[in-house]
Amino acid sequence: MKYIDEYRDRAVAQVLSHKIRDISKRPVRLMEICGTHTMAIFKHGIRSLLPDNIELVSGPGCPVCVTAMEEIDRSVKLAKTPGVIVTTFGDMLRVPGTDSSLDAEKAKGADVRMVYSTFDALKIAAENPDRETVFLGIGFETTAPTIAAAIKTAYQNHQLNFSVLSAHKLLPPAMDALLSGGDLGIDGFICPGHVTTIIGTSSYENVVTRYHIPCVVVGFEPIDILQGILMLAEQIENRRAEVEIQYKRGVTAKGNLGALRIMDDVFEPCDSPWRGLGIIPGSGLTIRQKYAAHDARARFDLEVPPAKEPSGCLCADILRGTARPVDCKLFRKVCSPRNPIGPCMVSSEGTCAAYFKYSD
Ligand code: SF4
Repeated sequence: MKYIDEYRDRAVAQVLSHKIRDISKRPVRLMEICGTHTMAIFKHGIRSLLPDNIELVSGPGCPVCVTAMEEIDRSVKLAKTPGVIVTTFGDMLRVPGTDSSLDAEKAKGADVRMVYSTFDALKIAAENPDRETVFLGIGFETTAPTIAAAIKTAYQNHQLNFSVLSAHKLLPPAMDALLSGGDLGIDGFICPGHVTTIIGTSSYENVVTRYHIPCVVVGFEPIDILQGILMLAEQIENRRAEVEIQYKRGVTAKGNLGALRIMDDVFEPCDSPWRGLGIIPGSGLTIRQKYAAHDARARFDLEVPPAKEPSGCLCADILRGTARPVDCKLFRKVCSPRNPIGPCMVSSEGTCAAYFKYSD
C-alpha cells in the first residue's frame, strides 16, 4: 500500500474484522503500550470492529502521563529560579505538580516557553546569553535522539547556558516491570511503530522469551492496527510467542543505528521513577559525565520534597492497565481537559483524554 486512504479503507477493515472474529475464540487482553495507539483506536472506532472476547487496555506509553510528579515539581522549582528560562513541549505546561504547574508559574511571571523542538530551545539559549535556558526532556526513545543531538551541539559550540533536565523513559524495561508483577493478565502487546523504528524489534526479545508473550509492532492507521491485532490473535490461538512486525514500512530488527549511536554517546541508562509503576531499574536516561555541563541536575539544586499524587486520581492504576477512566469518580464530573486533575487528562495521548473525547 502506498497512500494513506488505503490504510483507512472500510472494506479492508471489514475483511480484517471478520478474520479476527474467525480466529480468536478465547478471552484475550491486549495492551497497546503507546498513547498514539490509544488515540488512534478511539478515533477510528477500532473496538467496535472487534469481537467481545478481545479486550484492549491502555498501558504506560503516554510520555506526559508517565512522567513522575517529582519531575514536574523539579521543573516548577526551576521555573521559580531567577534568571532561568524553562522550555518544554506544550502538554507539559499543564500537568499539575504537587503544588503548582509550569502554566501556573508562567501566569505568575516565570519565563516558561513552549517549543516544538529542542533546537528551538537552543536558539532561545543563543538569544539570551546572560540567562540559563533549561529544556525539560521527556518522552521515550522517539524523542531522546533529537535531544541528544541538541546537547551534543551545545557541547560542540561551548553553549554553556543550555542544559537539559532529562526525564526520558525506555519502553522495554517498563514492559518487563509490568509483567514481573504477574497479575495483569495481558496476553499480548501492541508495540509502537515509532519507538521501534528507533530501538528495533530485537529490544523486545528478552520480554518475549522471559514471559512467553507475543509482541507485534504496529503502525498507527486503522488497517495497521486491525492487522496487528489479527497477527496477535493468530499467535495466541497457536500458542506462539514471537516478535512480529506489522509496521514493515518503518521497522527493522536492529532499529536506527545512527539514532541509537547518538543516544548512547550522550545518555546512559539509569533507574527511573514512573508514575504508577514506581522506580524501574534501567528504565531512564541520564546525561553522561562528558556532557555534565549541559545536565540541569548537575547545574541546579533540584531537591524537592516527596511528591503527592492528586487525591482521588486513578492515573497510577490506569497506567498499569488495572483501571479505566470511567472507574475514576472524578472523570467528567471534576476532571476534564479544561480542568485536568491528573496527567492522563492533560495529554492528547492520555487515556482519560481519549475516553473523554470519544466515549459516551
Ligand atoms: S479522570 Fe482525571 S482524576 Fe481521574 S484518573 Fe483520569 S486524570 Fe486522574
